[in-house]
Amino acid sequence: MLPIRIEKNPNPKKKPEAGKPLPFGKIFTDHMFVMNYTEGKGWYDPRIVPYGKISLDPSAMVFHYGQEMFEGLKAYHGEGDEVYLFRPDMNARRTNASNRRLCIPELPEEDFIEAVRRVVEIDRDWIPTDPGTSLYIRPFIIATDEFLGVAPSQNYLFMIILSPSGAYYENGLQPVGIWIEDEYVRAVRGGMGFAKTGGNYACSLAAQEKAHEDGYSQVLWLDGVERKYIEEVGAMNIFFKIDGTIVTPMLNGSILPGITRDSVLCYCRAHGIPCEERKISVDELIEAQRSGKLEEVFGSGTAAVISPVGKLRYRDEVFTIGDGSIGETSRRLYDYITGVQTGKVKDEFGWRFKV
Ligand SMILES: *Cc1c(COP(=O)(O)O)cnc(C)c1O
Repeated sequence: MLPIRIEKNPNPKKKPEAGKPLPFGKIFTDHMFVMNYTEGKGWYDPRIVPYGKISLDPSAMVFHYGQEMFEGLKAYHGEGDEVYLFRPDMNARRTNASNRRLCIPELPEEDFIEAVRRVVEIDRDWIPTDPGTSLYIRPFIIATDEFLGVAPSQNYLFMIILSPSGAYYENGLQPVGIWIEDEYVRAVRGGMGFAKTGGNYACSLAAQEKAHEDGYSQVLWLDGVERKYIEEVGAMNIFFKIDGTIVTPMLNGSILPGITRDSVLCYCRAHGIPCEERKISVDELIEAQRSGKLEEVFGSGTAAVISPVGKLRYRDEVFTIGDGSIGETSRRLYDYITGVQTGKVKDEFGWRFKV
C-alpha cells in the first residue's frame, strides 16, 4: 500500500463515559479511513482524516443502483494495554468475494488489514473497556460515478468508520425469539446472498417489521425457491443441536458465510463435538422438536457472537426450545470465542491479531 497520509483531528470529541450503557452504532470516533479508486489508476490516496460528512453528487451511482458492499468486525481490549482484532484476514477475503459479485474492484487483502489496523490504532483510546464492550469497525465501499446509466462505476470510495459499542447482552446471555418467515425471502442461489451488501438488508426490512410487531427480535429465512430449507437469521448464521449433533445449513450461494459460523465449526471439529453442514428443512426441525431431539438453537455473528434462541414461531405455532434457557454448547462456544477475542483463552487456531 502507498503510505497512509494522516491528518489528525484538531477537535477531538468527548469519549463516552465508562460504566454507562453504549448504544449500538450511534457514536463515532475522531477519525476515519478513506481511499479512492479510479478505473485505470487503481486504488490511491489512502488517508486517515477527521471523522466527518462527505459530499457526493446526487447522481452518484450508489444512490440509484446500490452498488456497494460492507464488512463488520470488532477491536477488543485485552489484558493490560493490548488491542486485538479477530480474524481480520477473513473479512479481507470476504470483501473481495463481495466485490467480485458486485463488479467492484478488488483490494489487496494486506491493504485492507493494514487500513483497519492503522485507523484502530489512531483511535485506540476510543475502545471501551467495560466487560463485553468493543469497538465496532465498519469498512465499506460505494460507487461514486456521477451517471444514471446502469453499468459498473469507474470510481469508488473505500471507507472505514469506527463506533464504540456496548455489551450485546447487558445482563448475560439472553435467549431470543425468532420468526420463521414463509412469505418473503432474502436471497436466491445465483443472487447475491453470499455477499455482504446493502441490498440484502433493504429487502429484509419488511419481514423484520412483521416479526418485530409480533414481538420477535429476528427473522429466520427459508430458501428462496421452495421456502422449505433453512438458510440463516437476519444478520446471523443459525445452528441447531439435534440429538447431540451440531447442524448448520451448508453454504449454497444464498447464505452469508459468517466468520463466527466458521469459528464455531472449527472449534467443534477440533474438540470432538459432532457437527454437520447440510441442508436442513423446516419440517425436519419441527419433527426434531416434537420428538424432543432439538436440544439447542443458536445464532452466530460478530455482533452477539453466540445468540441463544429460546423460542421459534412457524406459521401459527410457537415452539419453546429446551427449557427456554441457554444451552450448554451455546454457552461453551460463547465463552471460548469471546475468550480468544479478549486474550483470556489460548489462541489455538491463530485467530487473534494484535493491533
Ligand atoms: C455479517 C452477516 C452474518 C454474520 O457474519 P459474521 O462474519 O459471523 O459476523 C450473517 N448473516 C448475514 C446476512 C450477515 O450480513
